[in-house]
Amino acid sequence: MNWHRLSDSQQAGVRKALEKHVSEKIPGFAVVKKTNSQVMRFFDSVLFFVPDFMTSFITTYYPKVYVPSLQRWNLNHTATISILAHEYVHLSDRRRLSLLFNLAYLSPQILAVFALLAPLSPWFLLCLLFLAPIPSPGRAWAEIRGYRMTVAVYYWLSAGKYNLDYVIEHFIGPNYYWMWPFKKYIRRRLELEYQRIKNNDLDPELLEIKKVLTDAGVICYDGSRR
Ligand SMILES: [Zn+2]
Repeated sequence: MNWHRLSDSQQAGVRKALEKHVSEKIPGFAVVKKTNSQVMRFFDSVLFFVPDFMTSFITTYYPKVYVPSLQRWNLNHTATISILAHEYVHLSDRRRLSLLFNLAYLSPQILAVFALLAPLSPWFLLCLLFLAPIPSPGRAWAEIRGYRMTVAVYYWLSAGKYNLDYVIEHFIGPNYYWMWPFKKYIRRRLELEYQRIKNNDLDPELLEIKKVLTDAGVICYDGSRR
């Protein structure tokens, strides 16, 4: 059945099927409340430029997903499926690429840690310049993959087009530390990915999640069906 025709308990079943799939693929996966995590509280203090980090953002830190509210996670099946599918892309990329993924995602800003070598030579202090909002190709690559999944899930469940302007803001604004401020490029890329999704021209991770949803009883919209 189409997503909106499923009852609340059927939708909960689909959400659980996706959670089970992620658990099977990602060892150690769990969904954890943010305030129960010391790591997240530490990130909150570092990310002072994202004031609602604890209350508005879901953060994935391999192999777990940290959420502001477990209640919201368990009740809002549509949002949860969309978010989890997006985070699953990051989790599986991280699993595949190991610490290279972290390095790419946090570069170039992570290179500022070399400023700690300043006792060896004061020139290392220049590494602090990496803290500037310099574009991050690694982070942009990871998030294009993540948001492509978001756009796909939205389309499969609703036959609608996800708000691409909202996604673009994430790339060009502070939420991801100004990771890719080239608005035209991001728009073109997202539009292209949306067309591919509509044409059922899907990359492996999209096919995988579409299959999970389909196996759990959802008839996903695609270009051939109205
Ligand atoms: Zn993401």
